[in-house]
Amino acid sequence: MAELFYDDDADLSIIQGRKVAVIGYGSQGHAHALSLRDSGVDVRIGLHEGSKSKAQAEEQGLRVLTVAEAAAEADVIMILVPDPIQARVYEESIKDNLKDGDAIFFGHGLNIRYDFIKPPAGVDVCMVAPKGPGHLVRRQYEEGRGVPCIVAVEQDATGKGFALALSYAKGIGGTRAGVIKTTFTEETETDLFGEQAVLCGGTAALVKAGFETLVEAGYQPEIAYFECLHELKLIVDLIYEGGLEKMRWSVSETAEWGDYVSGPRIINENTKAEMKKILGEIQDGTFANNWIAEYNAGLPRYNEYKKADEGHLLETTGKKLRKLMSWVDEEA
Ligand code: NDP
Ligand code: MG
Ligand code: MG
Repeated sequence: MAELFYDDDADLSIIQGRKVAVIGYGSQGHAHALSLRDSGVDVRIGLHEGSKSKAQAEEQGLRVLTVAEAAAEADVIMILVPDPIQARVYEESIKDNLKDGDAIFFGHGLNIRYDFIKPPAGVDVCMVAPKGPGHLVRRQYEEGRGVPCIVAVEQDATGKGFALALSYAKGIGGTRAGVIKTTFTEETETDLFGEQAVLCGGTAALVKAGFETLVEAGYQPEIAYFECLHELKLIVDLIYEGGLEKMRWSVSETAEWGDYVSGPRIINENTKAEMKKILGEIQDGTFANNWIAEYNAGLPRYNEYKKADEGHLLETTGKKLRKLMSWVDEEA
């Protein structure tokens, strides 16, 4: 079972005694930087020329430098730019500004796990990854609560990497909720698997296949949309609150019976065999290497897939129907 750490296990003064650079000011970057600052930590932001988020960071009272300047000043460098460009930003602006005893931090393990970034032996390599989007991380912190974080140390050059990572997690409110110790390998592989097999890939394919089955059988797309997409949120909310048990308690007995007899026919042994293949390609680096190659080639297939789904009847039907529901906020 996982080891859990709370406020009392973490010493905030460790991170308060360091100079932190947060590289990037997007979803995670703004949340980490503002909350660390409010926790009494010395923070500067590193951003590229022409960054859209620079003005916002300055308005919020933070000092914005170039990535190289921020990395040179700091002794804890948290990299929160998009994963596919982290290796380039590291090579160009961070690598030459690392000194022995510095620490390099990540919010996701991909670049370390697959060796796209290879930090020198003298620096600590740590991860603090909140299990939620940045805006929730910041809001929870401001409300005196926190989002659970997972924390890992890949390279413990100083022998104090874990205490430093826990201290950082405390600075963004993570230890108020609870911190789980993991490894870069476990975090990266499970994160990629979860988003591909279940959360994004699996769910999108399931919704589309269900919708298409009904429409191809002659049912109205609007009705198919409600049954296969709209109601999914109600079901997921119940599962989130109380597991499968609460969902099954809340739906009708007919729905529960259908769940037992038909669910395993949809997600069956073949599906699970394919999941194992997908996990294998994550573990052996095939997925990560293909994705970085696709990114560096200018995203040709990514853009093709995106365009194909934008024109799908599920999406055009949804656009029309969501306008009828005043409580559904497209912008949120
Ligand atoms: P975002 O896309 O929200 O933000 C990226 C930030 O990086 C922006 O401020 C952007 O600036 C800046 N940026 C882009 N290019 C450069 C560059 N060359 N040099 C410096 N800064 C640059 O990223 P996320 O917050 O989503 O992701 C950051 C990390 O956090 C990733 O490792 C991700 O896996 C991880 N993570 C993300 C979660 C999430 O909920 N989003 C959850 C947990 C982990 P601008 O836009 O102004 O050009
Ligand atoms: Mg992910
Ligand atoms: Mg129904």
